[in-house]
Amino acid sequence: MKEDTVKKIFIAGKWKLGGGEPIQSHYPADNSVNAKISTANSDDINEAILAAEHAWRNPKWRDTLPSEKAAILFKVADLLETKKEHLAQLQTRDNGKPISETLGLVSSSIATTRYIASSLETLDSQLTNQRVKSLMTFTTYEPLGVIAAITPWNSPIASEIQKIVPALAGGNAVILKPAEATSLIALELASIFEEAGLPAGLFSVLTGKGSVVGEEVVKHPLVQKISFTGSTSTGRHLAHIAAEKLISTSLELGGKSPTIVFSDANLDIAVNGVIYGIFSSSGQACIAGSRLFIHESIYEKFLQSLIEKTKNIVVGDPEKNDTQMGPLISEAHLDSVNRYVEMARNEGGEIVVGGHRLEGDQYKKGSYYTPTIITGLTNQSQVCQEEIFGPVLVVMPFSDETELLAQTNNSIYGLAAGIWTEDYRKAIDISKRLEAGTIWINTYKKFSIATPFSGHKESGVGKEKGRLSILDYMQTKSIFLNLDQTPNPWCEPK
Ligand code: NAD
Repeated sequence: MKEDTVKKIFIAGKWKLGGGEPIQSHYPADNSVNAKISTANSDDINEAILAAEHAWRNPKWRDTLPSEKAAILFKVADLLETKKEHLAQLQTRDNGKPISETLGLVSSSIATTRYIASSLETLDSQLTNQRVKSLMTFTTYEPLGVIAAITPWNSPIASEIQKIVPALAGGNAVILKPAEATSLIALELASIFEEAGLPAGLFSVLTGKGSVVGEEVVKHPLVQKISFTGSTSTGRHLAHIAAEKLISTSLELGGKSPTIVFSDANLDIAVNGVIYGIFSSSGQACIAGSRLFIHESIYEKFLQSLIEKTKNIVVGDPEKNDTQMGPLISEAHLDSVNRYVEMARNEGGEIVVGGHRLEGDQYKKGSYYTPTIITGLTNQSQVCQEEIFGPVLVVMPFSDETELLAQTNNSIYGLAAGIWTEDYRKAIDISKRLEAGTIWINTYKKFSIATPFSGHKESGVGKEKGRLSILDYMQTKSIFLNLDQTPNPWCEPK
């Protein structure tokens, strides 16, 4: 995996060394260097965006039939499948996620690509409802132009595919600016799209720092949409830039999701679901269920079971098949998670499991943190209000539903929520009153490309996924056709 040379990047259909300062990809399990990667400078950014503009406007591409464009995407899916093990391994090396999870992310990317390709093949224009006898009206969909796709490091292949594929399917060109830590997978995607026969210029990967390369990309006058996944603070900043340029955004942002366990829940299944919901991906998931509300009548029993099972989580080498939790992405992120745990202590919280970095030979080179459970805090505490993005769960009891909903909804975020109960009437009622874009009932962290994903409140603007997600990257054009000789007023023939 180690490379002495600097990796080239994919700009305007060519592999070349970017003019920016190179960055490094690290393996978080032992902090060794995976690769040195070149980054884009202003000239590279301009070259990629001009080529993108030229490529999507090219009449040859604009006239390519949807079925022919879909064929390229099906080829991409086939290549993703052929390279599945390699892609999963590459992502594990980049961000330390266990191989079982990265294999899942590649599978999801293959399915997304096929689903969107099928959707493109079957996408119709609309003959709209007739309101005047003499007029026939129809609406067609057209590309927006150059799309800036900006992604985080936690699930890169899935985040990237769910932007690139619908955007390309919509006839646009895409400039991908991946997270610094996970550039390798983005470059691998570039080679896959190239091999699948996507015309040059329609897809470029501009690696580098967000505040430098990302900022310059989104501010470029030819960029017509920002499709961003990342933190709420960066999303807010990009929304300002988009407002100034009057271009649209899709912002998939942070979360602090509540999970509720009612007294009638199937406790064994609920304990497993809660543990998976917070500790898979080492808690580095936007939808991590990080605030747990347990009905007071089962609080002690449930908490004890949660503690016991959390102690059994297999934390270790992410390349081993049975590893459940890998390291955190970096030492800097581990320090940030640890600061939140210290803050919880200072706020009066009791750390009932974990709360420190993992010791021992197996862990000494990597950024490993213990799965951590905290009790004794209220929902007003800072650790309940801010996104930690690590393996830290705060557990709180509740007694009645009014108080419960006041607390679960007391958050700037509204990304997801989980409900555990055998009473489906109650579950549906609570799900309607929870302020979140995704609600899981008796399960957690399940996704489907067919189901739209969006954040409420400061967790996002716009949506991704769904059968018609291609339309999120298109604009409508409505055409009125006069069916008789009725003249417009003011120009009656004499
Ligand atoms: P981040 O906001 O720091 O960075 C995300 C991306 O934005 C990176 O590629 C970064 O380089 C780029 N960026 C940073 N500043 C920029 C700027 N000024 N202009 C343009 N681009 C810029 O987020 P992160 O730390 O990489 O990811 C973690 C965050 O992502 C968490 O808050 C998590 O909840 C969120 N997230 C949300 C979802 C979702 O679907 N809602 C999914 C995954 C992660």
